[in-house]
Amino acid sequence: MQNNKKVWPLGVFTSIGLGLGLSLEVLHQLKIPTIHLHTPPKTERTPAHVASLVERLRSIDVEATCVFAGFTGESYADIPTVRSTVGLLPLESRAERVAELHEIIDFASQLKVAAVGLHLGFVPHDTSDAGYEPLVEVTRDVCDYALGNDQAIHLETGQEPAGVLLDFLSEVNRSNLFVNFDPANMILYGCGEPLEALAEIGHYVHSVHCKDAKWSDRPGETWGTEVPLGEGAVDWSGFLQILDDIGYTGPLTIEREIPQDPERQLAEIGHAARMLTQLKTHHLT
Ligand code: MG
Repeated sequence: MQNNKKVWPLGVFTSIGLGLGLSLEVLHQLKIPTIHLHTPPKTERTPAHVASLVERLRSIDVEATCVFAGFTGESYADIPTVRSTVGLLPLESRAERVAELHEIIDFASQLKVAAVGLHLGFVPHDTSDAGYEPLVEVTRDVCDYALGNDQAIHLETGQEPAGVLLDFLSEVNRSNLFVNFDPANMILYGCGEPLEALAEIGHYVHSVHCKDAKWSDRPGETWGTEVPLGEGAVDWSGFLQILDDIGYTGPLTIEREIPQDPERQLAEIGHAARMLTQLKTHHLT
């Protein structure tokens, strides 16, 4: 790959106010040019908030490349709780969440962000499961709504092995459905070796989270452990090599969700940014 400033720009996962990612207030200290933005709550998705956010991003010269959806009632406490609460899988909240997802897609469109990412929830591993086809249908609905705004949907990886995800993408069969590849999630959920999965999912990968983790001693049953980039099981040099092989040139978006300790979060994201910059230089020259 030719060295090009537009290849693999650094990014960071951010949120506005209290949330999961780095706050915009400290983002400018890192001089990172792109972000994934966790959606603000409904009360902060008004036209006035959109205008203010566009101006804030412009003033710090940052481009938002993906808005991540999240829903009230989701919990990542442990793997069974994720299964029962996250994304569009839980039936009791599905209609309400699809309606909210339409609003989040519109919010992203007003921000001129061309992709909306989400954890869909655990896709059933057995395609004959009674929940499988309805989940395919609702994903088609979401993709079709986004296509009306000329936007893409990026499914976050980790809650299923690569083969299950590939079959699901093929079954949904929508031209604007892609993958946000998070190697740490593959480890945290015990769903397969991340680099093998990245190569397998290949051209569907339209965004990535640079996050690291250590395996659980009971993969798939209990969480692995999220750790700072470079201290976990992800081979980052190999990760960039596969991104190059599959032709991915988009942002490398660092994700470190420890908002309870902003100083440590800033230091660790800064360290991750330096490490990725060195690896990029090595791969691109
Ligand atoms: Mg992620």
